[in-house]
Amino acid sequence: MRYANVIIDISHEAVDRPFTYIVPDELVSQCHPGTKVSIPFGKGNSERMGVILALTDHPSVPVAKLKEISSVVLSQDATESRLIELAYYIKEQYGSTMIDALKLVLPAKKTYRKKAADKEPYSDEEADESCGMDIILNEEQMSVVTDFTGEYDRGVRKTYLIHGITGSGKTEVYIRLIHHVVSRGRQAIMLIPEIGLTYQTVKRFKRYFGERVAIMNSSLAAGERFAYYEKAKNRQIDVIIGPRSALFTPFPDVGIIIMDEEHEGTYKSETMPRFHARDVAIKLADMHGASVVLGSATPSVESYYHALNGDYGLFELSNRATGAMLPEVEIVDLRTELKAGNRTMFSNVLRQRLVETVSNGKQAMLFINRRGYAGFVSCRACGKVMKCPHCDVSLSEHRGKGILVCHYCGYEAPKPNNCPSCGSKYIMSFKAGTEQIEEGVKKILPGVRTLRMDGDTTTGKDSREKILKAFGEHKADVLIGTQMIVKGHDFADVTLVGVLAADISLASGDYRAGERTFELLTQAAGRAGRGSVPGKVVIQTYQPDHYSIVHAASQDYKAFYEEEILYRDIAGYPPIKEIMAVLISDKDEDAAYLAAVNLSGLCRAKGREVQIIGPGKAGIGKISDRHRYVFYIKADKKEDLIILKDDMEEWLDSGAGDSAIPVKVAFDFGPMNPF
Ligand code: ADP
Ligand code: ZN
Ligand code: ZN
Repeated sequence: MRYANVIIDISHEAVDRPFTYIVPDELVSQCHPGTKVSIPFGKGNSERMGVILALTDHPSVPVAKLKEISSVVLSQDATESRLIELAYYIKEQYGSTMIDALKLVLPAKKTYRKKAADKEPYSDEEADESCGMDIILNEEQMSVVTDFTGEYDRGVRKTYLIHGITGSGKTEVYIRLIHHVVSRGRQAIMLIPEIGLTYQTVKRFKRYFGERVAIMNSSLAAGERFAYYEKAKNRQIDVIIGPRSALFTPFPDVGIIIMDEEHEGTYKSETMPRFHARDVAIKLADMHGASVVLGSATPSVESYYHALNGDYGLFELSNRATGAMLPEVEIVDLRTELKAGNRTMFSNVLRQRLVETVSNGKQAMLFINRRGYAGFVSCRACGKVMKCPHCDVSLSEHRGKGILVCHYCGYEAPKPNNCPSCGSKYIMSFKAGTEQIEEGVKKILPGVRTLRMDGDTTTGKDSREKILKAFGEHKADVLIGTQMIVKGHDFADVTLVGVLAADISLASGDYRAGERTFELLTQAAGRAGRGSVPGKVVIQTYQPDHYSIVHAASQDYKAFYEEEILYRDIAGYPPIKEIMAVLISDKDEDAAYLAAVNLSGLCRAKGREVQIIGPGKAGIGKISDRHRYVFYIKADKKEDLIILKDDMEEWLDSGAGDSAIPVKVAFDFGPMNPF
């Protein structure tokens, strides 16, 4: 490979477009993607620093115009080199361009001026005295801490999984582990799901680490983020807490990476490169000589499998730290309710429990799985559903505004007065599930105070926190919400959790449906009875015998895991087999289809020991006027999938499939959702 695409000065400007240079013979062996080089740049040929993104034999510019790379630069900045290496790993593993991977790991430099109004809702002063450092670890917690720190001090570095039931005190354990590592002069990254940071957790961390901990969240401005990164680089902070992008904090010497709620889907990026934070955390830890600690009440099937295999160390916390009892769970068969003539969303049991709870001055959380309950609009006369002209999805009515919107492409149109199909004037919008429940609650308990948390009520900045805060201060009796409300919140007065339609997530049709249902129900149930009064949980379902519902009701992760892993084995899904989705999209449907046929044909022709399923039209066949086709590849080893991904990339780059050039191809390893 004689030519290199080089990106200039990544550390000083937003990453921009690459320039092509000739690699001189004597430097060929030293030049790889990610290598830092010195190059003549611009009219005056001033020497600039750059990073090689890719090497090629076929430059896209006339060779006569190209300059040569002057020299290879051995980087003085180990932190930056490490991040560039990480970008290269992400590019190789997940299929993306080096430039996209670099943009991910190296944030653009932005200046940041602190404004008076800048306080995202957590401030230092709020770390009140009531959460001092006086918690005495119980035996289970202590044994995790002593085992980990013992191994750590002996130089053992590996990945651990803490399987701890809801309320078992995992946060306290994380704090002690971080404290240990930080006291040895190293830094810690604590990953939390996108929306998973509770107010209580922030307070506890502030108490321990004060000014030495920084908390990132997704509403942080780019400049603010950069200011944290600078502090990290200069060792002014030891701990960063944040969503998956916190992995790219430029700490000089990371000793531990913790991933709370490791089963969470938001740890997987939904845009290219579609990396999973767990894999990247393990790679980063390897580069730093750090350990990784994954924690969850409902570990992903993958992680538990690795823990049982001995790939990961396994810790179990099986008791609630405060001594609170696990809630009592009742399953209600909705089919029987219907037979008995109950057509409301509330079973008789749930109605009774709700009345009891509120009249006892306690609080209830009612939870509905959003999937399948979009507020779609249809004609009552002929059944026509209003659809987006650009996407294969139904439009939803924007709250009370008479405007229909597409949540995929943003298309808007006024709600028609007459059905475009039959002319009838009976156009109805189906209320979102949460609104319907709220109305139901008010019918059962006139005068009840309710709060609602869903996509509609949480669009404003901090609105989520405000709702949770109000509920925490008992300003409402009932909180109604989608999966947003089930994560990690600790409300002492909540003694009832109701799940209105537990099986909606089972209908999603992908191999993770059972796992997702078990996880949602277990986490939802875990919200009940955090205080001194034991909690009650009512799960309403049409499939009371489904194993994920039965085992969630008895809060028995292991029983669930054993059935689930059997199914994964028989059906050939992860973690037994590895799976990759290849998504092809184009404005021209024939071009997309042809490219899908060609790419899957290419993979078949390679004769590897893989199974190829498809291609077929994606579940959502069109988004933003781009037609979507998908095929899946299953293999015993991930390496086989990566090799095929490389083959496909090479084929696309070489222009071999001329018709395939304009199409977009996305690779997704271990897809979280069906396409
Ligand atoms: P998890 O993250 O495992 O669901 P948390 O870390 O939120 O659990 O802890 C649940 C509750 O138990 C919190 O209120 C926490 O302060 C409390 N807690 C944790 N450890 C102890 C302990 N050793 N003794 C008493 N209370 C504890
Ligand atoms: Zn009609
Ligand atoms: Zn649309």
